[in-house]
Amino acid sequence: MLTSRDGTILDVNDAFLEMTGYDRGEIVGGKPSILRSEHHDDAFYGRMWVQLEKTGRWSQEIWNRRKEGDAVPFLLSISAMKRRDGRTDKYIAVYNDITEIKRSQAKIRHSAYHDALTGLPNRSLLTDRLDMAISSSRRSGERFALLFIDLDRFKNINDSLGHFVGDKVLKAVATILGESQRQGDTVARWGGDEFVMLISRIRKPEEASIVARRILEAFNKPLRIDEHHILVTPSIGISLYPGDGDTCSALLRNADLSLYKAKEQGKGSFRFFRAEYEKDSLDRLQLEMELRRAIEEQQFVVYFQPQVRISTGEVFGAEALVRWKHPDRGLLPPGAFIPIAEETGLIIPIGEIVLRQACTQWKRWVQERTISNERLAVNISGVQFAQPDFIDRISSILKEVKLDPRLLEFEITESILVSGSEQAIDKIHTLQDWGMTVSLDDFGTGYSSLSYLSGIRFDSLKIDRQFIVNIPENDDNAAITSAIIAMADRLDIDVIAEGVEKKRQVDYLWRQGCDRIQGFLHSRPVPAEQFVKLKNAAPVWLRKTG
Ligand code: C2E
Ligand code: MG
Ligand code: MG
Repeated sequence: MLTSRDGTILDVNDAFLEMTGYDRGEIVGGKPSILRSEHHDDAFYGRMWVQLEKTGRWSQEIWNRRKEGDAVPFLLSISAMKRRDGRTDKYIAVYNDITEIKRSQAKIRHSAYHDALTGLPNRSLLTDRLDMAISSSRRSGERFALLFIDLDRFKNINDSLGHFVGDKVLKAVATILGESQRQGDTVARWGGDEFVMLISRIRKPEEASIVARRILEAFNKPLRIDEHHILVTPSIGISLYPGDGDTCSALLRNADLSLYKAKEQGKGSFRFFRAEYEKDSLDRLQLEMELRRAIEEQQFVVYFQPQVRISTGEVFGAEALVRWKHPDRGLLPPGAFIPIAEETGLIIPIGEIVLRQACTQWKRWVQERTISNERLAVNISGVQFAQPDFIDRISSILKEVKLDPRLLEFEITESILVSGSEQAIDKIHTLQDWGMTVSLDDFGTGYSSLSYLSGIRFDSLKIDRQFIVNIPENDDNAAITSAIIAMADRLDIDVIAEGVEKKRQVDYLWRQGCDRIQGFLHSRPVPAEQFVKLKNAAPVWLRKTG
């Protein structure tokens, strides 16, 4: 556009006409204000003129109205054309339509603030909103609640049904959460299977629990995803502003801690933050740091507990049980660190250290002829087992240690099989194809679905100590124990009773047809040096009766 010094339009090019929708006749002779939109006020144009007079140039984004009435963003650059005496003669204005640029900017901004899978606000947007909620509540004195929501055992869904179904589940969850929010609330995807809900303006904490309960109820019935019916249960942790923190990070952390407690005390529930959770988490954090160090410095030792035949007293194997030689706290039992190791994934390196150490010892004994065909049983955590490359890792450890796989047994628990995962079954069968044996540990405690026993060829069942502890006096446990033994016999699976401490337990087990035991009566778990001596000692029950 070419204008005179006073802004009268002298001429425009065809591109201008095309962009604005006017005819030349409607424009030439008029003023550029024909294009003016309500986006800019008089002061804006005032500043433009001041700068033009001073510098002869002006350039800025501007919204102009087209003939049809819609406002369109342009990049407008105006330059003054001077006469030889330095006075401005005309102005030349170049308009660039930047609608597309704006649109893609908006898209980028949207994707920077939203999660691609679910379309929900993401972490950044949530923390922005949270910051806003904090500053506005600080002024108004209002309270709000933060709900941290995590799906229970989502990993199982992903592992057993695949990521494709997993993604659909997350989308469905996002929809349900979106429907449970009130107007003005924010539901965001925090990452993975974690969601956060910001509930603005609440008067009492009960309002947050009503929302939490509503969410839990919404997940009462299974989701229909393709041909699957999938029951998803969320766990929820709640923190309240200002009581549980007055910064974004404190509120999030405390909601997360409460979520953790909710999970601990039974899945599919919710929990409000309490101050003592913070101390627990400090302890956990400390422990986690110490565990990392323990892995680096190899502070783990493996103890061996003999497994014995009642009939002959022969030690036919041993279970490897890890201990942590803690630099300050002495020898720690697995119960003191395995749960945290599982939560943090540190069980994976620890499990490999144990396996390597136990197998190396066993191999040495084979070479020294202390061991001939006795089997070494190693516990494998569900977390370790679920690793996609589990089989490869085990295979490379076995190659490294060169232990005959027929001397190795893995003890796994039912938790591995809860989702009925095909991969889990394949892994078990692969190990068995190598000649290893696989036993089902703590049998009778977990979900104890007998259907696992028909789908998977376990080599043995370990009857959990909880049933053995008070047999034969306790009728129920005596009945359960003898039923497990009979069932295993029919299925042609070996049984071994754990936690045998008394001679009368031995007698009962023997009468029921169980010949294999493990427990303090014969020996506690002992360090490698002691195990060699134990191996040839006659067991008490044979000494007494024999
Ligand atoms: P588990 O696999 O059921 O191991 C048997 C546990 O029972 C051992 O406890 C053992 O010391 C204990 N025990 C054996 N006989 C008796 C008895 O007569 N009376 C009593 N009261 N207890 C007996 P420990 O060594 O404390 O291990 C506890 C659990 O920690 C194990 O239970 C196992 O689930 C886990 N664990 C141990 N080592 C490892 C490991 O290397 N990796 C993994 N993933 N888990 C391990
Ligand atoms: Mg075990
Ligand atoms: Mg056990």
